[in-house]
Amino acid sequence: MTLDLPLVARGKVREVYAVDGERLLLVVSDRISAYDVVLPTPIPDKGRVLTALSVWWFDQLSPVLEAHGAAHHLVSVTDVPAEVAGRAMLVRRLEMAPVECVARGYLSGSGTVEYQRTGAIRDVVLPPGLVEGSRLPEPVFTPSTKAEVGEHDEAITFAEVVGTVGAERADALRELTLALYRRAAEIAESAGIVLADTKFEFGTRAGADGLVLGDEVLTPDSSRFWPARTWSPGAAQPSYDKQYVRDWLTGSGWDRVSPPPELPEDVVAATRERYVTAYEQLTGQAFV
Ligand code: ATP
Ligand code: MG
Repeated sequence: MTLDLPLVARGKVREVYAVDGERLLLVVSDRISAYDVVLPTPIPDKGRVLTALSVWWFDQLSPVLEAHGAAHHLVSVTDVPAEVAGRAMLVRRLEMAPVECVARGYLSGSGTVEYQRTGAIRDVVLPPGLVEGSRLPEPVFTPSTKAEVGEHDEAITFAEVVGTVGAERADALRELTLALYRRAAEIAESAGIVLADTKFEFGTRAGADGLVLGDEVLTPDSSRFWPARTWSPGAAQPSYDKQYVRDWLTGSGWDRVSPPPELPEDVVAATRERYVTAYEQLTGQAFV
């Protein structure tokens, strides 16, 4: 197989190619985004680390998927073009549900902003007194729209999910999202990592009924991972990967409007190290 394939989509950090009617190739680049813009400097090996992590999680989550009559989309990581080996997944092409399935076990980011204003995230009412980084009494399902390129995802109510995909499918999405989150959070916790929240995307295969877990899963690009050791609610938690880059960008005086600056070599190296460490700590395997 070569990369001479039709490009289906190009996101900030990934490209999606059509292999044939049944299969897609998801290629992860070394690009890094912060504050929703792609930085001019790539992080060496980021694409390989994120791909390896996603693949590891698909395997870890298979029992949960099976228990729910669901599956994942991964077909192969070896049957891919040589020039993207290690950072590409051959997957089954799905009809994607038009919903980002977010699970939160901790309050953070846009969740905190909305909670401070309303005491809830959309229709999910939360107890009073929570702060940025607080653990929630129970993990919650806080879906959002799948925004068009350049737009921001927007939180929606469960009723809106029902309106889009029907009651039965909406229930199934919520139940599977929370089951996967619970299992993943338990695995992360035993590795000393807090899985604060994550986003899954599900689809279905033509002619089949069961949900299929698609996209990338439980990578730092789709999730918030915090070191358990330093978890302390009340302020922004240091994240495993991008915090360092975000802090550097803020310190560089970048106004978030003009094109972002190149990252210096030591910042690139330290950021790469953080991705590798997150992988190794979670999986207990050396990154090669
Ligand atoms: P962003 O850079 O903000 O993430 P994006 O989400 O448009 O932008 P990507 O995440 O790179 O960009 O795009 C991946 C796309 O591929 C998503 O639209 C996702 O829903 C879709 N996708 C993932 N897995 C499958 C699959 N198995 N079948 C069909 N589409 C899939
Ligand atoms: Mg995406």
